[in-house]
Amino acid sequence: MHRMNRLAWAALMLCFSIGTTQALEKEIYIPGAGLIERVDVPPPRQPVVVYYNGDIITMDGDTPQYVEAVAQKDGKIDFVGTKAEALKKYEKKVRLIDLKGSTMLPGFLDPHSHFMSAVRMVNQVNVAAPPVGTATNIPQIIEKLKAFEKEKLIPEDGWIIGWGYDQDLIEEKRHITKVDLDAAFPKRKVMLIHVSMHGAVLNSRALEWAGIDANTKTPEGGVIARMPGSNEPAGLLMEMAYIPVFARLPQPSEEEMLDLTKPAQMMYASNGYTQAIEGYSHAEDLDFLMKAAEQERLFLDVLALPGFTEMDKWFGNPKYRFGSYRNHFKIQAAKITIDGSPQGKTALVSHPYHGGGPAGQKDWKGESSISQEELDAITRKLFDANIPLHVHANGDGAIDMMIKTIEHAGISAKDDRRTVIVHSQFQRPEHLPKYIELGLTPSYFTLHTYYWGDVHIRNIGKEAAFFISPLKAAKDAGLVVSNHTDFNVTPLNPFWVIWSAMARESRSGVVIGPDQRVDAYTALQALTTGPAWQVFEENRKGRIKEGMLADFVVLKHNPLKQKVSEIRDNEVLATVKEGRIIYKKIGL
Ligand SMILES: [Zn+2]
Repeated sequence: MHRMNRLAWAALMLCFSIGTTQALEKEIYIPGAGLIERVDVPPPRQPVVVYYNGDIITMDGDTPQYVEAVAQKDGKIDFVGTKAEALKKYEKKVRLIDLKGSTMLPGFLDPHSHFMSAVRMVNQVNVAAPPVGTATNIPQIIEKLKAFEKEKLIPEDGWIIGWGYDQDLIEEKRHITKVDLDAAFPKRKVMLIHVSMHGAVLNSRALEWAGIDANTKTPEGGVIARMPGSNEPAGLLMEMAYIPVFARLPQPSEEEMLDLTKPAQMMYASNGYTQAIEGYSHAEDLDFLMKAAEQERLFLDVLALPGFTEMDKWFGNPKYRFGSYRNHFKIQAAKITIDGSPQGKTALVSHPYHGGGPAGQKDWKGESSISQEELDAITRKLFDANIPLHVHANGDGAIDMMIKTIEHAGISAKDDRRTVIVHSQFQRPEHLPKYIELGLTPSYFTLHTYYWGDVHIRNIGKEAAFFISPLKAAKDAGLVVSNHTDFNVTPLNPFWVIWSAMARESRSGVVIGPDQRVDAYTALQALTTGPAWQVFEENRKGRIKEGMLADFVVLKHNPLKQKVSEIRDNEVLATVKEGRIIYKKIGL
């Protein structure tokens, strides 16, 4: 009984009660099918809104500061102080939002992810096992596909595409076959993309469409799984058998893609983010996002990083202006990729990987995709044009290269370039003072400690693995840092990001570098003030302070008061962007 009462009380506490002393012109949210619709035309006159009665953490300063009330006006924070002062200031002409004990923070700022992946994936089904998804066996995967089919009203000859499928993480411990899929989907084409992205399972209709049957020869470097005792394809295609099929998949039209920008932004908003980064943008992505902005489809701040491989298309082209917003879209910085990933053993490291390279190479240290000379030349060209730079560097060898480049360019911290070293995963301790001296700033990826921590110990040894994404050492050295998901490499869930920075626990339960664990406030800084500074917006967002954007996230629990083991159980209750509630949890 006692438990029931507590549950009922908790449910009550979640509700926002909205009181107002004057009639509202228009409500700005409408409950929908799991998502909240955004009203495209804002009310003609925004009333002042005062939030109160919760843990309002400002993130302003090195230690946690709470305020009693926050007032927003015209999309900005107009007042921070007590509720009584706020009511006096606005002569009670306010809309009051009672937080009822929930926690309010500045909106989370995504420091590095791939927004276009969200646009492309939002029309696909997550069939991954926990923690990325929820399917733990084949019937549950089928159920997910069925639910998607129903929700999206897929035409009879349409496609259903799932992502995140991993045969090792389902109870059956075997590959799904076309037989499993055909029973539920005899007519529609179904494809489950493997978590490695190097293969997929197709049902009979999809295999037929791909022209793969018993007579199809297995191409060199490819795999076509066959039914036992026959030459019939079983469903699984890998590598060279899969790549041409993937390349032929029908692409959504531009209009369909533009429509998908809304659910894609809602993926971020439902995770508390008010900023999304498109972390490696092709020229066509820039054009697409510019069009979305022009049509006023963007309601989060979306920042793009044009990639160095297409510099001839955007560099010096007046069409692509860096550094200023237009309808919520900004081209932030150029992106250079130096190396690959440590889990794929393609990150450039200074000591050979244990057990050789990905193809069994001896003394394998990974590779860079660019030479030192090219890196120097491109960096100089960008800096001469005053374009900031985000550089993908995972291995310590790649980090060494970038440090050399910055030294060659004669740049130091006083130039305030804020060059973001995306991932900076396998820094060596001596890199930290170099970052300080040269004005480099790391965007870490502490989720690696969970997802690949065990793999890193095997691949590069305990010492280097334990210093992966060294948030604590960087903070102690005086660096401003951020912490990212690299979505769609890992899910957008911010509580996992915060938890991984605090716990650094691997899948098998090993603490990956106990001395690099940080407190909740530091973990939150890496999602608020850190990323704001990295994109030169520290005076615009990332803190609850007068004059800053009214961008907020409302959480069920206060991370500063939770046990580390509870951090992941938190929930985003609402997300506010420039004063408008863009996401509100259904059922509240
Ligand atoms: Zn990335």
